This record gives sequence, C-alpha cells and structure tokens, in this order.
Amino acid sequence: MNLLEKIKSKTGIYIHYPWCMQKCSYCDFYSVPAGSPDSTEFHQKNSKYLQTLLSELHIRAETFHKNEVSSVYFGGGTSSLMQPEWIEKILSEIRKYFQLSDCEVTLEGNPENFSDDYLKSLSEAGISRVNAGFQSFSEKNLLKLQRFYKMESYLEAIDALSRSPVKNWGGDLMYGLPDQTEEEFYSDLKMLLSYNPVHLSLYSLTVEENTALASQILKKKISGPDELLQQKILLELRNFTKAYGFHQYEVSNFSLKSYECFHNLRYWLYLPYLGIGPGAHGFNGRSRYGNPRNIETWLKHPHDSELISQDPINEIPLMILRLTGAISINYIISLLENHIPQFNRSSHRDGIESLIKQWTDQGYAEYTNQTESEIFPQDENSRFFSWTNLGLQFLDERVLEFSRLSEKLLELP
Ligand code: SF4
Repeated sequence: MNLLEKIKSKTGIYIHYPWCMQKCSYCDFYSVPAGSPDSTEFHQKNSKYLQTLLSELHIRAETFHKNEVSSVYFGGGTSSLMQPEWIEKILSEIRKYFQLSDCEVTLEGNPENFSDDYLKSLSEAGISRVNAGFQSFSEKNLLKLQRFYKMESYLEAIDALSRSPVKNWGGDLMYGLPDQTEEEFYSDLKMLLSYNPVHLSLYSLTVEENTALASQILKKKISGPDELLQQKILLELRNFTKAYGFHQYEVSNFSLKSYECFHNLRYWLYLPYLGIGPGAHGFNGRSRYGNPRNIETWLKHPHDSELISQDPINEIPLMILRLTGAISINYIISLLENHIPQFNRSSHRDGIESLIKQWTDQGYAEYTNQTESEIFPQDENSRFFSWTNLGLQFLDERVLEFSRLSEKLLELP
C-alpha cells in the first residue's frame, strides 16, 4: 500500500513536551528551562504537566472524528527528558480513544539522554521510532549554537542508538552554521552514517526572528549562515546520501526505503492531526488551533486554544511542494478543491497544469513516471512531477508563484 492511503484514513497525534536543558540560540520552538531534571521541583512540574496533558487529550479526542491513529509524535522541547512510565501512561490513555495498531510512535530528543537503558525502556513503553537531534559532532559548532551538550554523551548516544531495540532511528544535523566549513559538515554526516541510521534530517540553519542568534548576528557578534555554501550542500545531498542507500523524500529529509517519517508526511500532505501540550498546534482538516505558548496559562486552561484562520492558498503549496519525490498533480488539485470553496476542478485545473508545464520547460521540474512514487497511489488521470536540482534551489520562488497563480485564478485579493 502507498503511504498516502496508509495514513489518510487515520489521524496523527503530536504531543509537545516543553522543557529543555538550555535554550539553543537559533530555536523558536516553545520551550522553557528544565533547571535540574533530578530535582523534586522538576518532578512536581512534570506530574502537573502529565495530568493536564491527559485532561486535554480527553477533551480533544471527543471532538476528533477519526478512530485510528497512524502516528504519535513526542516532540518538544526535549522529549527525551520524559520518563518511559509517562510515555506508557500517555499511550495507554490514547488507546482509550483511538486504535493504535500498526502505528508509528516517535520520540525525538537530545543525545545526552539516549543511553542503552533509556532506549530499552522506551521500546518497552511503546516507542517504535527515535530521532536524535545531534545537529553537529563538533564541540566548537555546538558551543556557537549555545546548545546543551556533553561531547562524551554524544558518542555514547550514537553507539547506544546503533544497537538499540528501536531499529527505526535517525539523526538531525545542521549545515551552514556560523563559520562551519563544508568539510566539517560532511565529517558530521559521515560520522552519523557510519552508525547505520535509517533516517536523516539535514537542515540548513535558518535565522528566525527574535531568536538569540538573530540578535547576535545583528550585533555582529557572530557571522550569519553562509547561504552559498548552504545552496551547494543542498544540491549535493541527494546524490551523496544515495550512495548510502538513502532517498530524499522532502527538502531536508532522507530515508532508507520504507523508513520515511509518517508523522511528518502528514503535515506535508496537508492532512489533519491532533496537537496537545503547551504551544502545540492542531488541524482538524477545516480549521487550526494553537495552544497557549505559556506553560502556566496552559496548565490552567489546557484547551483554551486560539483559533488560527486557515490559509490554504499559501499553506498548501508551502507544504506539498516540499516533497521531493514524484508529486501527483491530481492530489494537489483535490487539496485545493477540498479546502478552497471557490476552487473548481473543471475551471481551474488547466491553470495549475500550465504552471507545472512552465516549470518543466524552465528546467525547475520534470514529469515523472508515477510508478516511482512511494507516497501517492497510481492514478491514470494524473501526471506526476518532481523537482530538478534547479527547482530545489529556487523552491521558495515556485511556492510563491503557485500561491499567486491560485489567487489570480480565483480572483482573490
Ligand atoms: S533542544 Fe531543541 S527545542 Fe530545546 S531549545 Fe534546543 S532546539 Fe529548541
């Protein structure tokens, strides 16, 4: 079965755990300092968090109209600060509302927590996929990002992951870090690959507004990312990782066959999911909500979320065009039709098809044999396309072009 069919009929659940050992300078996720994770105070805070999370789950589950779950994702923050017993408890509560058969259950976390014992307990608690945010193996580069790290635990973690009962594991690395050379990045990547992960998330560093990194760059205390080097690496990664058996399925994500992250695919395919925890977002297929980005407020009113107006004209291309394998044009058309009332397949389809044809003429995309798609079902009424290297390089412009064309077709302001 293709991946779309496997996940479309079910839902996904994202759980946000807010604590981190330290705030990394580039991070704009909602996170708060953990202080000392062994202290009674931290345990008390976590016990309140767990109680509130379960109560939010109870309320949200009742309003969500799917009864099977294809993925649960423990993200954060640093979810690897969670005790395996809490994870077991959360999963057992989820099972009261949803079926979890054949479900991918991911925990993402930081290397300092991934010991042999922790990984074994995670596996026993029901975790089937682990993602470790290494970002780099260079002490100098981690220091520049103000990351909490212990170099020896990085090495122990990668060793533990390689022999862990959770076989589906991957690691994150970043490139284009301040003053990082190309050789340093590839040395990090080869180091990770030498431990046989099945998944890689390779991100170029981006400078988000209002982060410590943005202010350091503004004050010229640190140099910004080397964009030319980032472009060069981005274009090399597809072939580089192919030599190790990986395929790129999204701009920053690579996996061995059948090890794509189902949960993240859900976002890129614009499918509904439930989000719980402080700062979490959810999408029921019609509207979005955002939980308070403040732990105290969320503890008092866990489901007092803000409704976020949906913006499908911009969101759909932003998500779906990030996929780098064969993309079904019919699937894009169905998304537009399902989420934009003014969109009409018979009147507007030609406009979308012409834009994609223009991209193939300009060398940004190429029509692809649909049997090559692992994500979409074969469809005799649809053409499929994928990005060339040139398309990948100028993807932001293509996304914008798609949104502007949709507005024009629908004559929206
Ligand atoms: S560990 Fe992750 S979530 Fe926490 S501050 Fe760093 S990047 Fe952000």
